[in-house]
Amino acid sequence: MADCDVVIAGGTVVTPSDMFTADVGITGGRVAVLGLNLRGQRTIDAKGLLVMPGGVDSHCHIEQLQAGGGADEESFVTGSTSALAGGTTSVVTFSTQFKGQGILAPFAEYRRRAERAMVDYAFHQIVTDATDDVVFNEIPQVAAAGVRSLKAFLTYDPLYLDDRQFIRVLAAARRNQMLVTVHCENYEAINWRTAALLADGRTAPKYHAWSRPPMVEREATHRAIALAEMVDQPIQVFHVSCPEVADEIARAKARGLKVWGETCPQYFVLSADHMDRPGFEGAKFMCSPAPRDAAASEGLWTCIRNGVLDIVSSDHSGFSCETPVGKRANGADAPFRDIPNGVPGLQSRLPILFHEAVTKGRMDPCHFVRLTSANPARLFGLYPRKGTIVPGGDADIVLWDPKKTVTLTNTLMQHIIDYTPYEGMQVTGWPVMTLRRGEVVMRDGKVQAQPGSGQYLARAPYDLIKPTGNVPNGFDASAFLV
Ligand SMILES: [Zn+2]
Repeated sequence: MADCDVVIAGGTVVTPSDMFTADVGITGGRVAVLGLNLRGQRTIDAKGLLVMPGGVDSHCHIEQLQAGGGADEESFVTGSTSALAGGTTSVVTFSTQFKGQGILAPFAEYRRRAERAMVDYAFHQIVTDATDDVVFNEIPQVAAAGVRSLKAFLTYDPLYLDDRQFIRVLAAARRNQMLVTVHCENYEAINWRTAALLADGRTAPKYHAWSRPPMVEREATHRAIALAEMVDQPIQVFHVSCPEVADEIARAKARGLKVWGETCPQYFVLSADHMDRPGFEGAKFMCSPAPRDAAASEGLWTCIRNGVLDIVSSDHSGFSCETPVGKRANGADAPFRDIPNGVPGLQSRLPILFHEAVTKGRMDPCHFVRLTSANPARLFGLYPRKGTIVPGGDADIVLWDPKKTVTLTNTLMQHIIDYTPYEGMQVTGWPVMTLRRGEVVMRDGKVQAQPGSGQYLARAPYDLIKPTGNVPNGFDASAFLV
């Protein structure tokens, strides 16, 4: 056999199902062979390291356009840098619609901006205004351009869909062989509690959590699942914060529905108490749904072990704390309602999860790979090109030192955001090298990739997200353009 371009030698290869000692031979940016004593033009010594597929972060907000013009601080260059430094090589990010406008123009703008990415990337299309033109004309066009997932918000003022609009999005997804991802919280309930809290002078960041207690998330999750069941459209529930929400997904799965659930590192290691810090400090931890408490965090591990939640994404949504465009956009005294939501986490996702899951003995490295790489690649139509180490797949690989202990600081995080909510947290297990399609793009924390070297991942229809075929009364209402 001819020499490979690169051989990663002597490490412990971790796939979604197995762990074994082998060399990984890479040719032309793809994995060519797994074997022993492989020969390559270059050899990378991986002794003592885990050799894992690069992370796939299927929920992260990068360079998101803002309604008033401009974009989020995190650009495709800085976001890619942070991702690669943390061992993530592919992302599914977002193209947003603004109410009153279509989806094709912003989609073209995101495609243009993402040409500077250094990670490989795909898009979810956010639908905020399910007009006839969007639903019947534009969604088929973005699907044809390789977008196989729509995102629906059931809360947030400029974004939310009422039930009729949500149903129309589900039906459009069904007609166009797409998945629907859903932010599940009850819009009216949150607005009602928020109004009461503000009327009582309770404006501090900690009241963000009070405004959206768990039943608000549980109710919307239940409703999203019921409506998806009626349309017979597969969905993924984003960022499940606690077991009582996951229970809704478990019940759906038990009925044979195609409903998946995701959670994020913040729901394991942050809690509502973090938002109760003095002054504006609590704003650093504000995200939606709100982090709960230690019992909820521990309960999420059970939901992971029994397979109800099978993906851990970052929901990276960065807003700096000290800049006028970030968390303080409405002033340092802004009531919680007016503070942008979201926490950064592209780079910290894998180290925090590895520490909590593997280092602390909750699960094996194969399960870690499934949660952070293989399962997102499968659910979003990228597998096995992404998400595993297999001949023919892209050579997206992270070399991981399971013994290296690091204290997280914002200086280490290579995002543009000026803080990390995990400042001072100590983790054991750290990425020491990242390869993207066979190219070394990070070594010992130093990212060396060219802006524009990331590739757009156009997704074709795939079987996992096909509807089940069961519709009430055998009547498929989604076939009608209503
Ligand atoms: Zn999000």
